[in-house]
Amino acid sequence: MTYAIGVDIGGTKVQFAIINRQGSIVKRHLVPTEADKGPEQLLEKVEAGIDRMIAAIGQSEHIEGIGIGSAGQIRYSDGSVWYAGETLPGWSGTPIKERIAERFPYPVTVDNDVNVIAIAEKRYGAAQQMEHFVCLALGTGIGGAVMAAGQLERGVFGGAGELGHVSVDMNGPACDCGNQGCIEQYASGTGIARIGREVIQQAAAPIAWEPNAKAIIAAWLQGDAAATQVMELVIQALGTAIAGYIHSFNPEGILIGGSVSQAGERFFEALDQEVTARTSPVMRAACRIVPALLGPDAGVIGAAAQVWHHPSWK
Ligand SMILES: [Zn+2]
Repeated sequence: MTYAIGVDIGGTKVQFAIINRQGSIVKRHLVPTEADKGPEQLLEKVEAGIDRMIAAIGQSEHIEGIGIGSAGQIRYSDGSVWYAGETLPGWSGTPIKERIAERFPYPVTVDNDVNVIAIAEKRYGAAQQMEHFVCLALGTGIGGAVMAAGQLERGVFGGAGELGHVSVDMNGPACDCGNQGCIEQYASGTGIARIGREVIQQAAAPIAWEPNAKAIIAAWLQGDAAATQVMELVIQALGTAIAGYIHSFNPEGILIGGSVSQAGERFFEALDQEVTARTSPVMRAACRIVPALLGPDAGVIGAAAQVWHHPSWK
């Protein structure tokens, strides 16, 4: 058997896994990121986790390489961090690939955490039959990736696909990126909570839910009027952004993952309608909006799967 080691570096946890060529996880390990302790401790943690994976699989098995997915913008040419914001303080500029390749006798590939989700979904998930698709991860923020003709769209240094920072309202709330009304301000967990707080402030009657995405979505699914007000705005905003992605990329699929997409069938039905109303019919007819299939493991599976896509998937 041949295996690949995957590492998924996020703001709160680092996931490690060994996967086989079928995309199944055969060993896994998880540690807290402790991002506030700085980049050196994080690199040491990554090295220790990889050591642990190698020990777990045994010396006699064949490891083909190490694939890493990291939060932040990754310069794909050398596997270093171009820019990471407050999620990973001090991580900008870290030469991840150089450091890990120095320490281990395997090929190393490093990419952005949502790009590797797109690789996982293409190889093992909802996009297996798709060559042109857009991947959206609706979590604390919104991450994106664009696959065109089977290749990831990277842009000049690797920063393409920041789809969370497409604005749906030029006068909307300010975003860290400098723009106003970015879709991240509406359809991420943080954005939903923000709208929830606004609705609470304006409400005439007491509100039955806490202003967090999970509680708001649960109340919406049970027919709560104030939660419906929040989610209608969220879906309008997200539908507007997706109409823009469809017009930009002419994709055959929009894959939606992340915690917000757990809202399920009703969320997807409402979103479908909203997008249809905002997209030119011929473009819309070519595109399906589908849930990502691989869930919370997509990042670490895709990180590892890079090993089998390198170098043709530049
Ligand atoms: Zn923004």
